[in-house]
Amino acid sequence: MTSGLKKASAIAVRYLSPGKPHHAQWLVTRKCNYRCVGCNVWKEQDERELSAAEIKKGLAILRDIGIVELTISGGDPLLRPDIAEILDYASEHFVTTVYDNGSMAAKKIDTLRKVDFVAISIDSLDEAKNDAIKAVPGAWKNAMQSVDVLQKEGIRVAVTPTISQKNLYEIMDLTTYFMERGIPMWFCLYSYDTSVDNKQLFRIGKANDEFIITDKKAMVNLCNQLIKTMKKNKNILMTKKLLETLRSLYEPGEHRAWKCQALNQFLVVDHLGRISGCHNHNFAGSIFDLPAQWNSREFKTLRETYHNCTQCNYLCYIAYSLYGSPQSIISLAGDQWKNVKLLFK
Ligand code: SF4
Ligand code: SF4
Repeated sequence: MTSGLKKASAIAVRYLSPGKPHHAQWLVTRKCNYRCVGCNVWKEQDERELSAAEIKKGLAILRDIGIVELTISGGDPLLRPDIAEILDYASEHFVTTVYDNGSMAAKKIDTLRKVDFVAISIDSLDEAKNDAIKAVPGAWKNAMQSVDVLQKEGIRVAVTPTISQKNLYEIMDLTTYFMERGIPMWFCLYSYDTSVDNKQLFRIGKANDEFIITDKKAMVNLCNQLIKTMKKNKNILMTKKLLETLRSLYEPGEHRAWKCQALNQFLVVDHLGRISGCHNHNFAGSIFDLPAQWNSREFKTLRETYHNCTQCNYLCYIAYSLYGSPQSIISLAGDQWKNVKLLFK
């Protein structure tokens, strides 16, 4: 059996195992070379982080509890000198996505060959505007070059703009631009620290009025346009159900059409190996104690708390909440079979 087939069959078995979490995000570093407006990460960098050996030990634990999809982010994870060792191991066991702010990917081609997706952050086709958001001259050129190089090298690259009031009216143009070039799109939604827990696991940024989406009608229109577009072009790596759920947050009589599945379908690990249902809550333990804690009374109580929590609208967490169980994976397959197949190259 080839290593790709071996991985796909191991992943299918885990997907179809009930009562297990399927998604994890590991924020492997707080180091970042960008200075994005509204982000706290670069203001609160931390030299401390787990070694590659410790992360691999933690990844084996995540695999054994059922995790299928792994997102490696930070900071910028590609700044870690030992990232190749981490990604090689991760890619063997998970559908692995690694995030890059666009500054590093083109310099790390060989490191990225085995991962399933490299997500590059580009917020605007307007170079000056993009660089103002990232607060680093050359950010746009670096990111565009990274996308180009990755695509030429046959590495699966996706562009991941963060939708905010700053770029709301240009998201469709940005989407069309990359889709015409065969580059898949995934979207993030502008978010900031909303936690009532001042010991939240991973602080991201204070609210910035310029970025908060105020034109709700335009956001509803954008969701409608994306739903329409994805019928013709499968390079939008989202589902109709997810976009409808997002849209419902901006429609008149807005409502949350999902219940959060943090620490049930997904969990987050920080650069020190601490875990939580999501980055907004205080840590609940260490990755190394996870097997013993998973079925504990304490985690059961936390799950109930998270289930009733309405603090955030992080798009990844919404997606994980909508598509965590085997039943919902099957409905995901019905909704966007081509993208599911993409995961099993
Ligand atoms: S948003 Fe990402 S790339 Fe920008 S400063 Fe924060 S961690 Fe770095
Ligand atoms: S809604 Fe879920 S993901 Fe968001 S802060 Fe609450 S528990 Fe965390």
